[in-house]
Amino acid sequence: MRALRTGLAGLSVVAVGLLASSLLVGVAPAVAGESGVERYLDTVRDDPARLDAFLRELPKGGDLHTHLSGAVTTETLIALAAADGMCVNLADFKAVAGPCGAGQRPAADAETDPAFRAEVISQWSMEGFRPSAGQSGHDHFFAAFGKTGAITSGHRPEMLADVLDKAGRQHESYMETMTTRQGGAVFELAQGVEFNEDFAAMHRQVLAEGRLAGIVAAARAETDRDEARYRELLGCGTEQASPGCGMTVRYIHQVSRNSEPNAVFTSMVYGFELAEADGRNVALNLVQPEDGEVSLRDYRLHMRMLAYLRGAYGKAHITLHAGELVPGLVKPEELTYHIREAVEVGRAERVGHAVDVLHEDDWPELMRLMRARHVMVESPLTSNAQILEVSGWEHPFPTYRSFDVPIALATDDEGISRTDLTREYARATTDYRLRYGDLKTLARTSLDHAFLDGERLWRGPDDYTPATPCARDQLGAPEPSATCRAFLDANAKAALQWAQEAAFNNFERRYS
Ligand SMILES: [Zn+2]
Repeated sequence: MRALRTGLAGLSVVAVGLLASSLLVGVAPAVAGESGVERYLDTVRDDPARLDAFLRELPKGGDLHTHLSGAVTTETLIALAAADGMCVNLADFKAVAGPCGAGQRPAADAETDPAFRAEVISQWSMEGFRPSAGQSGHDHFFAAFGKTGAITSGHRPEMLADVLDKAGRQHESYMETMTTRQGGAVFELAQGVEFNEDFAAMHRQVLAEGRLAGIVAAARAETDRDEARYRELLGCGTEQASPGCGMTVRYIHQVSRNSEPNAVFTSMVYGFELAEADGRNVALNLVQPEDGEVSLRDYRLHMRMLAYLRGAYGKAHITLHAGELVPGLVKPEELTYHIREAVEVGRAERVGHAVDVLHEDDWPELMRLMRARHVMVESPLTSNAQILEVSGWEHPFPTYRSFDVPIALATDDEGISRTDLTREYARATTDYRLRYGDLKTLARTSLDHAFLDGERLWRGPDDYTPATPCARDQLGAPEPSATCRAFLDANAKAALQWAQEAAFNNFERRYS
């Protein structure tokens, strides 16, 4: 902190000059160090170890697309299973409750037997995976959730501690994690709901007798307990506090899309109700493979359900997995409409993956629509490479950027993928020869499209010019003007963005 203040004092003479000239156009100045960082990046971009060290320090804003049970580190899952006395089926590597019988080994063996440990890790993640005639990356990836489900279902606070610690250490400041609370109770409730094309009638069925309100209350209490426990695990408030304690976290309810319509609709209603009742729950998303039999059959139906519920509720945001498809995985006509339907009918404010976009009907017009509506693409490059085998110039990442569609990097299931946000930045930097200014835009985009309360720091979406209250301030300055301070105090999102600009200033002083 002391170094930061000294650094700022040293900068002030230059900054005042820059500030004076910038006032003529009403734009806060670029920090003098930005061009120096560009030069530094050019010296390390072909040196993977130094590039990784540089990108690890880069302020990366938020990870907006991460599934809690797929993000937890595989080694953490092994430790949790061992501590619980669980067993691993040797036939399918599924973790199950102990005591162990024939054809099973104690999960604890994976802590002591290196060969068994390596085998478990390769079964529960993409470590060392090579696609073969026997199993595709897609199938190996999604099968991992079933193998570890008995561990992940009972350890949400430990998983939160794991992923937030990792994120904080990589200079992320925000996470929207996808998780399913009270899934069993919601599924049970759905069994009494009959599918009805009249969504208003089905909606009344879901809310009848107040059972859903009870489930929402239970989810809120569970969230309170989880948050208290993960903070305890991370040592928050103590001298040994993990960098994860500084993370702002929000939750996205996962709706399992490969279920019957009554269950999907009930789960959607629950997601909307959860957001109304508790501001920590900001959105809902549809999960499970988009190419699943029911997911495909009911795709348009699900979008219409969301359109109806969007009109019935005010608070929840919508982000959707859409276009996580490639030719060969589904019939050609399935590649032509998912992203557009998600945006136009399902009212998605963000779209996850969106990899098959160049197969959509009139895709340039779709991209222009996404740019006009500021629909952001959540792009997990490693996940796309592993599940869909799409990467490099075959990936639409550069096309989205050339159409000015907002796009941010994300990790998806960093535990299963054996990646992290730093490696996603490294992949993007290397594959697309990104410059430091591009990396800054990716990070800014992630926070700008976060479903966090309050107004943004900027004049408008995807316009990184400060809003009026802070227009005359040096971005990220430690002591903003009174009007800017008041604005930041009243708007959590703007405050987080301000903190990120401060982190950029600090980063640029180090690397220029
Ligand atoms: Zn995902």
